[in-house]
Amino acid sequence: MDDTTKIDKFTAINELARRRGFFWNSYEIYGGAGGFVAYGPLGTRLKQNIENKLRDIFVKQVGILEMESPIITPGKVFEASGHVTNFKEPMVECVKCNKRFRADHLLEEYAKISSVDAEKMSLDEIQQALEKHGIKCPDCQGDFNPPQQFLTMFITTIGPYSGATGYGRPEAAQGIFVEFNRLYAMAREKLPFGVIQIGHALRNEISPRQGLIRLREFTICDLEFFFDPEEPCCRLLKEVENEILPILLCESRLKCCEDTLNITVREALDRKIVKSEWQAFFMAMAKKLLVEIGVPPEKQRFIEKLTWEKAHYSSQSFDQEVLLDRHGWTEVSGHAYRTDYDLGSHMKASGADMRVFKEYAKPVETEQLAVKPVMAKLGPVFKKEAGKVGELLAKADPQVVKAAFEKDGFYMADTYKVLPEHVDISSQKTVERGKRFIPHVVEPSFGSDRLFYVALEYAYGVKDDRVVMSFPRSIAPTQIGVYPLMNKDGLEEKALELQKVLTQEGFTVELDETGSIGRRYARADEAGIPLGITIDYDTLSEGTVTIRDRDSWQQVRSQIKNLPELLHKYFQRKINFENLGSLVES
Ligand code: AMP
Repeated sequence: MDDTTKIDKFTAINELARRRGFFWNSYEIYGGAGGFVAYGPLGTRLKQNIENKLRDIFVKQVGILEMESPIITPGKVFEASGHVTNFKEPMVECVKCNKRFRADHLLEEYAKISSVDAEKMSLDEIQQALEKHGIKCPDCQGDFNPPQQFLTMFITTIGPYSGATGYGRPEAAQGIFVEFNRLYAMAREKLPFGVIQIGHALRNEISPRQGLIRLREFTICDLEFFFDPEEPCCRLLKEVENEILPILLCESRLKCCEDTLNITVREALDRKIVKSEWQAFFMAMAKKLLVEIGVPPEKQRFIEKLTWEKAHYSSQSFDQEVLLDRHGWTEVSGHAYRTDYDLGSHMKASGADMRVFKEYAKPVETEQLAVKPVMAKLGPVFKKEAGKVGELLAKADPQVVKAAFEKDGFYMADTYKVLPEHVDISSQKTVERGKRFIPHVVEPSFGSDRLFYVALEYAYGVKDDRVVMSFPRSIAPTQIGVYPLMNKDGLEEKALELQKVLTQEGFTVELDETGSIGRRYARADEAGIPLGITIDYDTLSEGTVTIRDRDSWQQVRSQIKNLPELLHKYFQRKINFENLGSLVES
């Protein structure tokens, strides 16, 4: 492949994406609306394949449960979760043209203040910095109003009641937390277990101008993994413990040093760089996912989030980043240790018990003092008030009653003077079989539109002035192209027949019979179709076809009858292109 690093890939990819129907900006006929995209046929399939890869890794291989919940969420949920208070970004408005901007992004772009510093600034500090650096409206050079915090959740009303506030969910996680009790039952009331939700999220971003990287409506894949903090060991750690995690630590970031620490998962845990074994496990799996969608390990890193960068619910967070051509290091997934914050908050706000019961290995016997009113004695003394006194005594702390008798010789139950002979204080044995507690949570959270963009950028290449999208074969939107050399002499029928057979075998197949074979190959390369099968006259006489490799442009000749078996093996990565047939000399 040629060196394409000098081309602005972002522009090239956006242009290709529009032309070939991967994606484009929505609502074009009405002038467009920033932060919304439509995916075309190729894009929809590619996005589904990426999301299915996620399912393959987490749902099938790790055994995570999948669920789906609504996007519109009653206000109470996001009040309890802390989003109504915290899900805000600093914003400034131009006094002249009324355009609004993310204040911290302006400081990064025009004052070269690092995102690390910009994110921790108070509104006052932002205002001072904007003034100090003379930053004006990028569109009209107007001054700004004082910065304010903007709630980036979409707000609506539920039904025809103006008081029934609802929010568009900015993450799918809360949909999992609020259904925890039922999901725990589905997991047969056993920890640890995880639940994933892949669905649309809404964030009313202030000024999204980065294509798929920052959208107002996007697909989020939130995985909440629940475990007992007293039993934090990850049973799957062995599978990943030697995997290298490239981590940019907080201490390096504070010194503006970009050197990553390349350590194994095991070392990261031993050195307490990552606090939770499950979190380290998911970070390793996230790295594997990115490799599978085409990003080599050396183009990935994890950055440890600084205290002021972490979401309000997180005790330790890492962002997985991928190096992009225009945007530099860009977050593709977040890994947060959410502790018992969310379940605890919903338990408090809703009153529902979200604790799980943990049985002790051995029941624990305890002896406790108990106060029993002796009604036969209380009756004659307190007459019709005796019942009330009895109730007060039943509720009293036995230790307090006992101490009062010892010190004063009586106990005051409200205004009633109770003597030792009115009660029976004795110790009672209780057997505790277990305890109730709120599980802890680690969360990997991916944005599938960013994964999609990353897949496009890493697939993008130029060969002989032609664009070739070298998607890994397991995510390619179309797997096989079928091309009749001519549209006559029965070649077209044969091609249709082959397309039908391969489609029935479960492959995604496209038949292309228009234009020269070279044009068809070029179109297929742009669409990222890994294999092209050409039907020619030898197909009719000998039952053979040529198979062309998208990346090397090499061709092999193969028996048509062997194709289903060979192609299954090829797409399952059991064989390579050379094993599909005998090489055709070009
Ligand atoms: P967060 O909850 O902010 O950590 O986001 C989780 C993931 O969602 C990020 O790692 C991104 O991949 C993705 N994401 C967040 N915000 C956006 C956005 N505005 N547009 C597209 N993807 C986003």
